[in-house]
Amino acid sequence: MKCLCRNKTTFKLCKKNVKKNNNFCRYHHNNNYLAYTIFNNVFGNKHNLNMNDIFNLYKYVTENVSINEYKEENSGIFFIELLENIPYKLLLLLSKRYLNQTNKYVKKELYIFLNELNSKSYNICKFDKINILQHKFKYYLLNKNNKLINTEDLFTCESLSDIPKNRLFILKDNNCAYGFDVIELDYFIKKCVDEKKIPYNPYTREKIKEDTILYIGKFMEYNKIESRELQYNWITNMQAYTDLSIEFERRGFYNSPEWFEKMSIESILKTIKYFKDFSTEFEESNQYFNNVTANNVTANNVTFDFCTDGIRLLKECNDDLYILCCNLFKSLALCSNDFYDNIPTWMSGINTTSLLSNVFSIFGDTSGNNPNNFLLYYYVEYM
Ligand SMILES: [Zn+2]
Repeated sequence: MKCLCRNKTTFKLCKKNVKKNNNFCRYHHNNNYLAYTIFNNVFGNKHNLNMNDIFNLYKYVTENVSINEYKEENSGIFFIELLENIPYKLLLLLSKRYLNQTNKYVKKELYIFLNELNSKSYNICKFDKINILQHKFKYYLLNKNNKLINTEDLFTCESLSDIPKNRLFILKDNNCAYGFDVIELDYFIKKCVDEKKIPYNPYTREKIKEDTILYIGKFMEYNKIESRELQYNWITNMQAYTDLSIEFERRGFYNSPEWFEKMSIESILKTIKYFKDFSTEFEESNQYFNNVTANNVTANNVTFDFCTDGIRLLKECNDDLYILCCNLFKSLALCSNDFYDNIPTWMSGINTTSLLSNVFSIFGDTSGNNPNNFLLYYYVEYM
């Protein structure tokens, strides 16, 4: 095996063979072992690094902080320590197009810049489309230009000149101005909040100030623009159930979208009935599933309404209200054998069959050809 150390100027790998039981040759065995091992994991044989490689390094460090015994809040410091082991000229070269050309950077400033740039990229790398745009607009940003930087709405790709004046919202940020269809911008902000992210300008990743968000609301009110409600673009029931299933999984309940799909509309309505029944002492439970239980219910909207409110409940009910998430799962278990068979062990466990008849009479369910122990558990535990 070859030594993992790299040349301090060219960053090329050392060509010598390693010492016994070591990743380094006899000249390099005193080197920063951790740094070069990480470089090997992230870069492999590559020595001509680009910004993407640096981003991968940042990602690696951030996602493996615990194994490196660095606390999360220190990951930036560790990342900078690693950068110090990469030739400075190489870093300067790959950062060139991102930097303000008139400024001279001292080493430390470049390290901090790279850390910030990559941490911001990392935090939004889920938004792939936006991520690509970021590189494009970073360049314009540095030109400090007061005219509108974009010509199309980012979200709809509609030309700004086609957007009616009363819907065109100008967002200013770092002396630059960006045009948006206010409906889309407002929707994006709501989505950020829903996903527990701080709303940001998608072009620059700068936080959108509270004042600006208030102003967007006023702007819409003044122009009599209706905001778009957060909604899911479901076409099939399966898509809706998949989103609900993911949310259950997130809150710690093993499940599968197929289990929902197998349930009849009657079972879904029954689930809601149980949920309401179990949760009467929590006033907050009244905020959920009201559309589904309304009189004008039709088979078509039951699934989507059930999933929309289920997702909202799973997202909103934290701490003391986590019991509502449990109640929803328990209700499903009463109406579906798949859910019943997969109740988390911490939720079941008590098995007292002697109360069986009483419990079913409480529910008015005499059809019970499938005596359900879980139901018993619930009543033993909570009545
Ligand atoms: Zn070596």
